[in-house]
Amino acid sequence: MDRRKFIRSGLILGSTAITMRLGNFAGLAQTLKSSARMPALFLGHGSPMNALELNEFSLGWRKIGAQLPAPSAILCISAHWETRGTFVTAMERPKTIHDFGGFPKALYEVEYPAPGSPELASEAALVVTSTEVKPDETWGLDHGAWSVIKHLYPKADIPVVQLSLDYRLSPKQHYELARELSALRNKGILIVGSGNIVHNLRLIDWNKPDSGFDWANEADATIRKWIADRNHQALTTYNTGGRALGLSVPTPEHFLPLLYILGLQENNEEALIFNNKTIMGSISMTSVRIG
Ligand code: ZN
Repeated sequence: MDRRKFIRSGLILGSTAITMRLGNFAGLAQTLKSSARMPALFLGHGSPMNALELNEFSLGWRKIGAQLPAPSAILCISAHWETRGTFVTAMERPKTIHDFGGFPKALYEVEYPAPGSPELASEAALVVTSTEVKPDETWGLDHGAWSVIKHLYPKADIPVVQLSLDYRLSPKQHYELARELSALRNKGILIVGSGNIVHNLRLIDWNKPDSGFDWANEADATIRKWIADRNHQALTTYNTGGRALGLSVPTPEHFLPLLYILGLQENNEEALIFNNKTIMGSISMTSVRIG
């Protein structure tokens, strides 16, 4: 899609909303539903096998999903899509990407056929002004997105768009980019960040399926405290936070989706923490709902 057409389709989304607002009663009911300010979620995704399993974590996601107002579409920031520059998936039919190795065949057979939303892709490009958000026609839905969204919306009937992580930006810049997405929450868009707060695959301990190393527990507790205290300054400079955080967040990509969700938090919004558990020594499944 060329850029002009891309932007024009975002404007159409805006005018569709106005038409719906002025429309008949049935249209009005739909508008009320889709124009409520949507919550935003950070989901600690852990193993891709969570896509198939009904366990305490996937059940936690399902429970939260059942409590959400119905979204008109989902914008997902996944740890598994890093790019040079910021991109947004703009295709009508995003493919299910099986971006992992060494898992059972059943996981490669999972398809999550949610439609895309070129309109939401354009709208995201319109609301972000600090950098150019470019349309992408090659990605799709990676497992960071579908392994969790599959539990929120098992029917795959809500359109999903992914926004990439520009690996050149600092944590603070990602946080500020997230703030620009805030207007989408008033248009019925559910914003989902998918990563893990503690994520060190090199130090995974298979003898600790249900617990974490001391440093992993310490780092997860520190982050949860900063979230509870709304200490976003500390959260965006987590990488200066000492040994436990250094071991727990050796690379930024799984942590950054959390900053997207906290960047969306308004002063009057609480942060609900759930699924907070460390597993395999060096992973935490801690998840957050804003709003
Ligand atoms: Zn991951």
